[in-house]
Amino acid sequence: MKFGGSSVANAERVMNVARIVTDSYAEGNDVVVVVSAQGDTTDELIEKAKEINPNANKRELDMLMTAGEQISISLLSMAIEKLGYKATSLLGWQAGFNTNSVHGSARIKKIDTSRIKQELAKKNIVVVAGFQGLNKYDDLTTLGRGGSDTSAVAIAAAMHADRCKIYTDVDGVYTADPRKVKRAIKLDEITYDEMLELATLGAQVLNNRSVEMAKKYNVVIEVLSSLERLPGTLVKESVKMEKMLVRGVTADKNVARISIIGVPNIPGIAYKIFGKLAAKNINVDIILQSVGRNDTKDITFTISSDKSDEALEVLKELDFLEGRPIECDNENVAKVSVVGAGMETHPGVAAKMFEALFEADINIQMISTSEIKISVLIDKKDADEAVTAVHDAFMPEDN
Ligand code: ADP
Ligand code: ASP
Ligand code: MG
Repeated sequence: MKFGGSSVANAERVMNVARIVTDSYAEGNDVVVVVSAQGDTTDELIEKAKEINPNANKRELDMLMTAGEQISISLLSMAIEKLGYKATSLLGWQAGFNTNSVHGSARIKKIDTSRIKQELAKKNIVVVAGFQGLNKYDDLTTLGRGGSDTSAVAIAAAMHADRCKIYTDVDGVYTADPRKVKRAIKLDEITYDEMLELATLGAQVLNNRSVEMAKKYNVVIEVLSSLERLPGTLVKESVKMEKMLVRGVTADKNVARISIIGVPNIPGIAYKIFGKLAAKNINVDIILQSVGRNDTKDITFTISSDKSDEALEVLKELDFLEGRPIECDNENVAKVSVVGAGMETHPGVAAKMFEALFEADINIQMISTSEIKISVLIDKKDADEAVTAVHDAFMPEDN
C-alpha cells in the first residue's frame, strides 16, 4: 500500500491511513506501506534550499528532501501503534533500496528485502519511506518527483506481492485530470502502455517510472482513494476492449522549447547536438528539423523546463553553434496529448484533435505522434482550455 502526500498531510489523515492499513492487516495480510512526505513538504524543502543556494549541489538536495519521508514514516508507525498494532518504520536504505548515483532522479538497481522480511516475520506492519535510496558510496539519493509510487511498485515486485495499492486524493485514473475537466470519466482499467504514456505526458496520478516497473515485473496496480472506500482503477497488461478510442487527455506544463537557427546543413549535426544532451542525462522529446536551405537548417526540440539552463550550457560547448542564435522558451509552452491504444487502428484521431483545437482558436506550434499518442506543443496559457476541448471532443457527452 502506498499513500501520497495529501493522504498523510495532517494528524487526522495519518490516523485515517493507519485505519486503512490496520484493517488490511486484521484481514490476515502481511502489509508493507510506503508513504510520501506530508502535504507540500517536499516543495517547501526545495524552497528552503533555494533561499540559501539556488544552485545547491544535488547530493545535498537529496539529503534535504529525504527528510520529508522520514517524518511521515515515524508518524504513521506511531498512529498504527496507537490503534493497537505493531509497526516498524524503515528509511529507504534500511528497506534495502540500492540505487545508482544520479542524485535527484536515481534509478533503483536492487532491493535487498531481508530486513522487510524479518519485520514481517515478527508480525510487524512495515512502514517504508518512499522516494529514497542509497547509492554505492552510501550517499542518500532520491528517485525523482513522485518517486514514492516507484518505491511501492518496486517493493511489490521484489516481495511478489499479491497487490500494489496506490492510495491518493482522487478515486482512480480518469480520462483527464478530474480537478480540471468536468466531464472526465473514471476508468475501471487501463493498460500499462497507455498509463505509461499518460504518466509521461503529464498525468500526475502515477509516476511514469512506477508504471514502467509495474509492466516489467507484471505488478497489477490499483489506484484508489484514501478518503473514500471505493473500487479504484486497475493498471495491467491488457484490459477488456471497450469502445473507447482515446483513453486520456493530458497536459505537461513543465516543457521548454529550444530552437537553434541556421546550423550547417551537413551530416552529423543532429548527432552532435543530441549526443551531447544525452551524455548529460537530458531527455529530449519532440524534435523538429527544417528542410535545409542555403546550406543551413533549423533544429527545434523540447525538453523538460527544469533542464533548460543545463541544456543551454551544453549547447554553448559546441563550436559549430558559436554565433548562431539559440532561442529558449521555458515559460510559455505546454504539451497537450491524447493517448489511446485504439487510435492505432483508427484513422482520423489526429484530425479530430486538431479540429477541437481549431474550434477553440488554439494555435499548434509542434506536433509529434506515436502508435498510441498524439502530442501538440501550444501556448501554456491555452493548456487547460485545450485539454478540456480535446477531451470533450472524444468523450461521450452522457457521462
Ligand atoms: P499523491 O500525493 O497521492 O502522490 P498526486 O498529487 O501525485 O498524488 O496525484 C494525484 C493527482 O493527480 C490528483 O489530485 C489529480 O488532480 C491529478 N491527476 C492528473 N491527471 C489525472 C488523471 N488522468 N486521473 C486522475 N488524477 C489525475
Ligand atoms: N515526496 C516526493 C515528492 O513530492 C515523492 C512523492 O510524493 O512521491 O515528489
Ligand atoms: Mg504522486
